[in-house]
Amino acid sequence: MKVELRRKFVPNSNGRLQVLSSGGGTQSICMVVLIYIGAIPKPDLIIMADTEREASNVFDYHKRHIKPLCDEMGVEFVIVPKSDWTNNDICTESDDETVLPAFFTEFNGRSAKGELGKQPGFCSSKWKVEPIQRYLNNRFGEKELTKRGVDFWIGMSFDERNRVKYPSGKWQKRYPLFEAEILREQAIQIVQYFGLPEPPRSACWMCPNRHDEEWIWMKENVPQDFAAARQFEQELQQDFPWLYLHKSGVQLGEIIFTTKPKQQDIFDQFCDTGMCFV
Ligand code: SF4
Repeated sequence: MKVELRRKFVPNSNGRLQVLSSGGGTQSICMVVLIYIGAIPKPDLIIMADTEREASNVFDYHKRHIKPLCDEMGVEFVIVPKSDWTNNDICTESDDETVLPAFFTEFNGRSAKGELGKQPGFCSSKWKVEPIQRYLNNRFGEKELTKRGVDFWIGMSFDERNRVKYPSGKWQKRYPLFEAEILREQAIQIVQYFGLPEPPRSACWMCPNRHDEEWIWMKENVPQDFAAARQFEQELQQDFPWLYLHKSGVQLGEIIFTTKPKQQDIFDQFCDTGMCFV
C-alpha cells in the first residue's frame, strides 16, 4: 500500500526521544500504519497508558493487530498500567475527597431542565500523562531525559487544529497527521485500506464524557461494559451521593435513553489521541 502525503512529517533530529503516544483509536492506529508502510519515520517507541478501566477488547485488539506490526518493523510497543506508576485513582492519592474524573454533580443544584453541571476533570493527566512520564523517567533516567527532551507524537488530524498546541520544555508534542495534512476521514480510510479490522472504542467504560448515543451504543454492543459502569456509579455514590455519570442526574440503570445510535466514530473523540477530550 502506498500513501502520498501532501506534506512530509519530519521528526526533530536533535536527539530528543521520539515517542508515539497511542490513545488506542483509529488516528493512533493510522500513525502506526503510516510508519509500517514507510510514509512517516519510525519513533523510538510507541507507548499506551492503561487506565485499568479501558473499554473491553482494546488491549486484545492491540496485542493481536498492532503489536505484531510493531514487532515486524522493530519498534517497541509498551503498555503502561496506571497502578504501576501512581496511586491516583478515582480520588487523588493525597486526598480521598478530590475526585478526578469530570462526573456530573448535583452539588450546586440542577438547571431548569433538571440537568446537572460538571465538575472539572483531571483523570487524563493523572491516569495517562503522569504515569507515562514517570515510566520514561524511570527507564531512561530523569536527569538524562531532562537534558535530552521528549517529543510525544499525538494522533490529531488536520481538521483538529484547535486542539493542536506546541508546548516548550522537556515534554513537547508533535502531530504527524496534522503536520502531514491528513484529515480524520482520510485517517479512517488509510486504516481500512490497510485491511485492519475496525478498532474497538477507546475510552474508559465509566467515562462521563459520553452523549446518549454513545451510552446506547455501549449498552447494545458491549453490555458487560455498561454493567460495569452501572455498578461503578452505584459504588461511587456510596461515597459521593451527588455524583452521576449522566447529565440527567439519573442513575444509568434507570435512564430511558431517547435518541438513536449514530455513526460509529463518535467515541474516537475521547482518549484516541492519548489525551482525553475533557
Ligand atoms: S476516557 Fe474519560 S474517564 Fe478515562 S481517562 Fe479519559 S476522560 Fe478520564
